[in-house]
Amino acid sequence: MINEKVGKILIEQVNKELYSAYLYLSMSAYFSDLGLLGFANWMRVQAQEETAHAMLIYDFLIDRGERVILTPIDAPPNRWKNPLNVMEEVLKHEIYVTSLINNIVTIAEEVKDRATMSYMNWFVDEQVEEEANAQDIISKLKLIGDDKSALYLLDKDLAARIFVQPTIKTA
Ligand code: MG
Repeated sequence: MINEKVGKILIEQVNKELYSAYLYLSMSAYFSDLGLLGFANWMRVQAQEETAHAMLIYDFLIDRGERVILTPIDAPPNRWKNPLNVMEEVLKHEIYVTSLINNIVTIAEEVKDRATMSYMNWFVDEQVEEEANAQDIISKLKLIGDDKSALYLLDKDLAARIFVQPTIKTA
């Protein structure tokens, strides 16, 4: 059994993670259209990760006996000014997600739901990485500026990213 408030906010987080996947897939499509296939790949992997995050929370809810009722996923934006603008939006979005995760931990703490606190700790750590990854690409894009050949090299780097299924070890 799970506290009503905690159950509700975790189901909301499933939706938020799926929205994140949708947002990054939309960004991937934008990069494909620009011919930046490495960036498109990076975003596609990012979308896969977000879907995996949603499923990790979904499975946790099922394990805790929660009846999961899914809600509509908002349409993501589909236009950006340039690659730097996209990555700045990624960072902004991840900072927002971090605040959502922190809020879940705070609510779980209030009702002394140790299982949720422990499980969501993985997401707290994951968010540090999510923000750092976005920041890293932003810094590189700022260095690159209008240098097309440098952008091409970064695009080649981002083509190497592969999806690794995340797992959460519980004691
Ligand atoms: Mg996520």
